[in-house]
Amino acid sequence: MIGCVALRSGSSGNSTLIRNGDTRLIIDCGINGKTFSNALAEVGESPLDVDGILITHEHSDHVSGLGVVLRRYKLPFYLTEKTLEKILSRLGKFDHNLINIIKPEDKFLIKDQIVNSFQVPHDAVETLAYRFETQRGDITVCTDIGSVSQSTLQKIVNSRLVVLESNYDLQLLRNGPYPRYLKERISNGHGHLSNGECGDTLCHLVQTGTEQIALAHLSQENNHPSIAELTAVQTLSDIQAVEDQDYKLQVAKRHQTSDWMQI
Ligand SMILES: [Zn+2]
Ligand SMILES: [Zn+2]
Repeated sequence: MIGCVALRSGSSGNSTLIRNGDTRLIIDCGINGKTFSNALAEVGESPLDVDGILITHEHSDHVSGLGVVLRRYKLPFYLTEKTLEKILSRLGKFDHNLINIIKPEDKFLIKDQIVNSFQVPHDAVETLAYRFETQRGDITVCTDIGSVSQSTLQKIVNSRLVVLESNYDLQLLRNGPYPRYLKERISNGHGHLSNGECGDTLCHLVQTGTEQIALAHLSQENNHPSIAELTAVQTLSDIQAVEDQDYKLQVAKRHQTSDWMQI
């Protein structure tokens, strides 16, 4: 089986499982140890079978559960030197042999899985997205991305399955309760991706072979699953792409485990 499932998604915690045959990788661990093992059990998996954890950046919604999970399951984890410096003091005691330093733009092997990392703009020290090569096409996980440049787009295109941030609706953000500095921080190109920007990106992706889409990391205050989904579907209809015919789409859930997407 080759696929991907969001265990949790959003500012209250992020963790995604990629499975390619017998290789199982986790992207981020921003949920507590109990939620992590329960969510894996819900999708028929066990933390003991996980081969590694890939960290995108130091924000707590991506690493808050990492220390506990490292102690409990002794899983190797992968991150950049700069991100390690940011989170090391928060991890508590763990076996430092589990640390694997990668470069922002890297290509490496975990068991038999080829992983490509690439840097994306976000208000953290060094934020990464990951692309996984499989024999049935690539899977890319890309959240916490302030904007999608041409060079970033080139790193994502041709992926068969994409988990892409659809963080906020611009109108809801503008009219919402956040103070002005926070609104600017979110939308200044180094914060999060809006539904509209996500939709525009998806048009390029579907035109280059993306068949499965998960909208991820939705804001609780400035978005709603139905708004994010509608924006994506409407934007994709501009290029005559039809849901369930040209692509499948789901919204990754905040407090629940999402459904498997398979390629
Ligand atoms: Zn985040
Ligand atoms: Zn972040």
